Amino acid sequence: PTWSADSVLELNNVGMAYGQKEILAGTNLKFKGYQKVGIIGMSGSGKSTLINLLSGFLPAKEGQIKLAGQEVANFDQADWKKQLLYIPQNPYVFEGSLRENLTFYTPNASEADILEAIKVVGLDELLAELPQGLETKIGNGARALSGGQAQRIALARAFLDKQRRVMIFDEPTAHLDIETELELKEKMLPLMANRLVLFATHRLHWLNQMDLVVVLNEGQVVEVGPYAEL
Ligand code: ATP
Ligand code: MG
Repeated sequence: PTWSADSVLELNNVGMAYGQKEILAGTNLKFKGYQKVGIIGMSGSGKSTLINLLSGFLPAKEGQIKLAGQEVANFDQADWKKQLLYIPQNPYVFEGSLRENLTFYTPNASEADILEAIKVVGLDELLAELPQGLETKIGNGARALSGGQAQRIALARAFLDKQRRVMIFDEPTAHLDIETELELKEKMLPLMANRLVLFATHRLHWLNQMDLVVVLNEGQVVEVGPYAEL
């Protein structure tokens, strides 16, 4: 099933473990439709673990993740992943051209859309430096990028996609300075409309844009509610 305004994603008594170390034990959460959900907590509190569980990149050790009543494990994982725009904490730039990296989710993106996305995320300077422009090979073994540039590429992928209805961000602006972040924020907010958004961040200024905030502490969900009520 494709995510829509009345879809529901539910975690029932979910727990995770890294070897002997248990984390997020007994987690119950429910997300609906086009909610925007902020996920906050100190470093090591479990934000990335929760995000990886939700995106199906980590298996739960116990409990169930259900999508509109269907357990995600039984449900087609590949199908779920195709619905996600997932921007990990350390985005992966694979060895390939800048164009291939940007159009990872949208192989048919037009030249005009690619150039627009480059402008929006501020990769125009990088593009100008590359000898073969969009066709220049980047990533592993080719031209290395900074953490901020990799993050901008991941954001540009999201800007190019008009189809996917679930956005999962893991500190998407952590490698950017605050001025750049605030500029980008204005452009990212419209991108989040009509989508389920799960947004892990350290930066509290995002939270008043969220419908719901999940607070993590030491590997446990400690509060869930609208920001104003926390
Ligand atoms: P940050 O803000 O630094 O990104 P976080 O809230 O995303 O932190 P997680 O990365 O989810 O935190 O980590 C939660 C806990 O799980 C931490 O104690 C961490 O050390 C541990 N952990 C995370 N990944 C692994 C792993 N692959 N193997 C073992 N322990 C892990
Ligand atoms: Mg993290």
